[in-house]
Amino acid sequence: MDSKIIDGRMVAGQIFQKLKDDVSKLDKKPCIAVFLVGDDPSSRIYVNMKKKRCDENGFDSIITQLPGDISQNDLIKQINKVNKNKSVNGILVQVPLPAHISEEAVIEAVDPQKDVDCFHPYNLGRLMAGDPVFLPCTPAGVIVLLDYYGIHIHEKRAVVVGRSNIVGKPLSILLLSRHATITICHSRTANIREETKKADILVAAVGKPNFITSDMVKKGAVVIDVGINRVEDPDSKKGYRIVGDVDYDTVIKKCEYITPVPGGVGVMTIAMLLENTLRAYNLQNIPTRI
Ligand code: NDP
Repeated sequence: MDSKIIDGRMVAGQIFQKLKDDVSKLDKKPCIAVFLVGDDPSSRIYVNMKKKRCDENGFDSIITQLPGDISQNDLIKQINKVNKNKSVNGILVQVPLPAHISEEAVIEAVDPQKDVDCFHPYNLGRLMAGDPVFLPCTPAGVIVLLDYYGIHIHEKRAVVVGRSNIVGKPLSILLLSRHATITICHSRTANIREETKKADILVAAVGKPNFITSDMVKKGAVVIDVGINRVEDPDSKKGYRIVGDVDYDTVIKKCEYITPVPGGVGVMTIAMLLENTLRAYNLQNIPTRI
């Protein structure tokens, strides 16, 4: 593989192997419960991918498929049941949820000790305070990739495009905790190109194909593409292909490192989810202060 390309599959493979070894030494399997509401095809694919990784690496998973018209109250009742089930260590509610259900209310219903996605405000607060219980999966995956490739974070100027609670904001906090100087860009940022061009580490978490073009990138920058976008492709069997937020073919000529899509950040997210599930298992079996 080109030395510029950050190989998420290879790094995640090593993490899965270590997790598998660690889990094989436990008395019982760590278990994650996943709620899938409705029939969004992408969500189903993501849930199946998570289940497959659990199976391969010695984790138990319980997938609960619920109808798209389930009420918010009924969904929260189901989550409460699993909160109390001692044999379940981690809980994940696949988002997006149907429009009549408040994602915030559902996320807050998950026991913070089982919040392996690290979406609960308690866990985001602990992250913000510099004392995290869990690390948010996609942002943690990005940091692991940077570390694996020996890319220094401290004293670097990092620009994160996107400010969601899932990616942009928590990743900015993690980069800050590693002593980068942070700029967060979003849809109301004036002259975004002027900001991105200053980045030593540029992260795209926007959800728009080809959003980052080579004129937005400083020569020698490290470019992390979090985006997962489906674009039509009549040449592909499926009729579509998955691309990131970065105009890969032009940006790769200018940067020092780049993550491909697929094969970059995406698989790391699942590796971090399993790490959090093992951490939850350990915390629940060795009582701590939460
Ligand atoms: P959101 O839609 O929640 O957030 C997108 C962010 O991009 C928002 O902050 C938005 O700004 C910003 N944005 C949108 N348009 C522009 C613009 N024209 N200029 C500047 N900023 C803009 O998405 P997520 O954070 O959940 O996900 C981002 C991408 O990452 C998606 O493609 C998603 O599929 C992918 N993803 C990948 C994961 C992985 O495992 N690799 C995991 C999670 C997500 P504003 O806040 O102002 O609206």
